[in-house]
Amino acid sequence: MADAKRLAKYHRRRDFAKTAEPRGRSAGSRAGAPSYVVQIHDARSMHFDFRLEADGVLKSFAVPKGPSRDPHDKRFATPTEDHPLEYREFEGVIPQGEYGGGTVIVWDEGTFRNATSDRDGHEIPLAEALERGHASFRLDGRKLHGGYALTRIRGTGDGEREAWLLVKEADERAAATGTPDPRRARSARSGRTLGQVAAAAASGG
Ligand code: MN
Repeated sequence: MADAKRLAKYHRRRDFAKTAEPRGRSAGSRAGAPSYVVQIHDARSMHFDFRLEADGVLKSFAVPKGPSRDPHDKRFATPTEDHPLEYREFEGVIPQGEYGGGTVIVWDEGTFRNATSDRDGHEIPLAEALERGHASFRLDGRKLHGGYALTRIRGTGDGEREAWLLVKEADERAAATGTPDPRRARSARSGRTLGQVAAAAASGG
């Protein structure tokens, strides 16, 4: 029941008779390295959605400019509701008038390793780290690699009013290239652009 509760906000906001987004069976634990996904979402305003698996759900942040490979870029991020694990695979068009109406592609996907620790060097579980306001992790994805950190800079306790920064750590995977133009970027799953996914949906494919 705790699982259903965790996705309550996700479910409340969506009419699954209208959107093809996954309902999400349950929040369950899986074997192996936790996964992450970065989606590009051409909604009312274009943004990236950055999602990390923790406690059987995807902890989610909207990142207007998207993650950068450049440690000098501080990318503003806002928490959004937990999403079901199945959302990792979602690519398609959310109907206009529905919550988040617009086109979604999976820009990047992969696994990550939590690298958040306390002063004594003990690992802090990711969900707890996010509650405390700072998490660092190493991504091993199709496009993004190496250390990143999420740090809360404003607000506590009321997720969607909080302000966070997503910053690349200065490591061997850092680069001077930022984030590509979201309209030209291609899906890590299908190779398609936002425009191609939207056109396919419009023609019934
Ligand atoms: Mn979004």
